[in-house]
Amino acid sequence: MRNKHSVPFEHAVMSFGISVPIFVARELMRHRIASFSEESSRYRELRPVFYIPGKDRPMVQIGRPMAYQLEMGSEALQAFAVETIMDSYKESWESYQTLLKSGAAREVARMVLPVGIFTNLHMTINLRSLMNLLSLRIRHEDSRIESKPQLEIQMMAEQMEDFFKEKFPITHQAWHDNGRTAP
Ligand SMILES: Cc1cc2nc3c(=O)[nH]c(=O)nc-3n(C[C@H](O)[C@H](O)[C@H](O)COP(=O)(O)OP(=O)(O)OC[C@H]3O[C@@H](n4cnc5c(N)ncnc54)[C@H](O)[C@@H]3O)c2cc1C
Repeated sequence: MRNKHSVPFEHAVMSFGISVPIFVARELMRHRIASFSEESSRYRELRPVFYIPGKDRPMVQIGRPMAYQLEMGSEALQAFAVETIMDSYKESWESYQTLLKSGAAREVARMVLPVGIFTNLHMTINLRSLMNLLSLRIRHEDSRIESKPQLEIQMMAEQMEDFFKEKFPITHQAWHDNGRTAP
């Protein structure tokens, strides 16, 4: 790891079963050195499972694009945001159901669904690429990489790191000691 011998880490792979909102899947799929299979929403009807931000999710952007901090915001804003998001989910789910009932194909009806709906996928990725992914998608005080990932993809990546650490403890430790950067 220290000497940048990267290829040995390509011989070990991990497969993850992942259930995330579409806006997270979209970011995840930017990692090209991985294989993905996503459950079809053309061949099967989607389930009404939507992402609702928790009470500890910061809501307010302070600063300019690409260099901003997030702050919690008032309780009123929190409540308003969650209510608005839920109203929008309900409305789009109703439109989805109405379209299906009126005979529209699933591939047409899904056009009304928001990016907050959950999708299911499988990802297989080698450890070199996984370490690259984790370095970019987890902001960590010991990391040599200054990345500012969106909270929700970081939540997913932290769970991936737990599995990585459990299955490959020596590689995980070496990666961590290497400033949490992939070789
Ligand atoms: C905080 C953050 C913000 C982001 N914002 C945006 C955004 O606004 N818009 C946007 O489009 N994307 C955005 N991205 C996605 C980002 O640009 C990368 O696509 C994503 O992080 C995948 O990284 P990667 O290319 O290293 O990984 P992979 O695609 O898995 O590639 C792994 C490595 O393989 C090599 N590689 C892969 N493909 C090629 C190639 N074609 N040519 C040469 N080398 C290659 C590179 O060394 C690369 O690091 C963001 C990512 C982060 C972490």
